[in-house]
Amino acid sequence: MTGSAVRLSKIAKGYGASQVLRDVDLAVDAGEFMTLVGPSGCGKSTLLKILAGLDQPDVGSVEIGGVIVNQQRPSQRNIAMVFQSYALYPHMRVRDNLAMPLIMANLPFVARMPVIGSFVPGMGAKRRQVSSAVKEVSKSLGIEALLERKPSDLSGGQRQRVALGRAMVRQPGVFLMDEPLSNLDAALRTQVRTELVELQKRLNATFLYVTHDQIEAMTMSDRIAVMMDGAIVQVATPAEIYAAPADIRVARFIGSPPINILPAEIGEAGIVRLLGERQRLRSVLRAGEKAQVGIRPEDVVVAAHTQTRGASSSHEGRLRLTENLGNDIILHLTIAGEQQVPLTARLPQREWTTIQANGGNPDLVQVELPPERFLVFDAAGRLVPSNEVLTSKRLEAVL
Ligand code: ADP
Ligand code: MG
Repeated sequence: MTGSAVRLSKIAKGYGASQVLRDVDLAVDAGEFMTLVGPSGCGKSTLLKILAGLDQPDVGSVEIGGVIVNQQRPSQRNIAMVFQSYALYPHMRVRDNLAMPLIMANLPFVARMPVIGSFVPGMGAKRRQVSSAVKEVSKSLGIEALLERKPSDLSGGQRQRVALGRAMVRQPGVFLMDEPLSNLDAALRTQVRTELVELQKRLNATFLYVTHDQIEAMTMSDRIAVMMDGAIVQVATPAEIYAAPADIRVARFIGSPPINILPAEIGEAGIVRLLGERQRLRSVLRAGEKAQVGIRPEDVVVAAHTQTRGASSSHEGRLRLTENLGNDIILHLTIAGEQQVPLTARLPQREWTTIQANGGNPDLVQVELPPERFLVFDAAGRLVPSNEVLTSKRLEAVL
């Protein structure tokens, strides 16, 4: 089985006065794991429902496997959905829950009836097909031992797997998943996360996976589509999204702890000024323009506090709070003295131990913000590419 490609073009949708989706374009390749991520309420479920045919767009076309399906009913679209609430039939055994989608699709009404059904000619072969499909899927998900149980006798993780199996039996061209892990506890969520990715690769299926959890998006996806306020802001690989967020809202949304955003100005010759000081960074923005600089917590360089002030990029940081993650430590600091600009740094625990041993005042550290790691955003919040990192000598020469 190979998955189908999906293409959403110029989708718009409103409910009454509120515009929920605006001009959404999204193309998912066949066999791709695409994650649609964004804050709660941004329109993810609405978009998924439009793709599934459970809702209609006001404008725009929905294409699955190269065919425009706007006029097709959900059952005709060769898709399967897995929701947060698994919606298993509570009175049916797992075996029958798994068989149901195939029975509904393949057996005529009379043949579905319990006793009379067995007398309908020609149905034996179809029933055998259903039962072998159920067997195959349950084997692939490791739930063969659960087939005779009712959903109430399953754990959350097992129920989740049955729901997945029910999506798999029809071998759909596209799997649509709406926050399918959010009912699981943290440990199980991590486990199922990797299982889902393995499954997707094994089936060579197309997944469109919806979540508000940026960690799920980062860890599972081939590509991520970030949605904000009804529009898709960026589509890229997890690595690209992290390293070069196209928009300051994306930068803020992806990454934990969140990126630091500091107000900046553009000085003469395009030199970036941060906290009132010239940085070794020249941007394409014009002098006088407002900008913001993003720097990831792990890119903040922390050293033991020194009395003598070092390079101009060095700041005294006052420690407000530390969070110990075991391997890493997160420091919540303020810099820039009176201004008390908040800054988060993340560093390996071992480094922190050394810094503490070498520092005098335990509440103070030295902080450096390396311009090589700056993400510069313009006044509208768009990433400004191709900044030039200068040496100190070159900075003098430029001015
Ligand atoms: P998400 O899945 O990203 O959390 P949704 O797609 O569920 O967001 O909802 C997006 C917005 O559309 C929300 O503001 C929600 O209140 C609104 N909305 C969704 N469905 C309806 C509906 N049937 N009628 C009116 N408003 C709706
Ligand atoms: Mg939703």
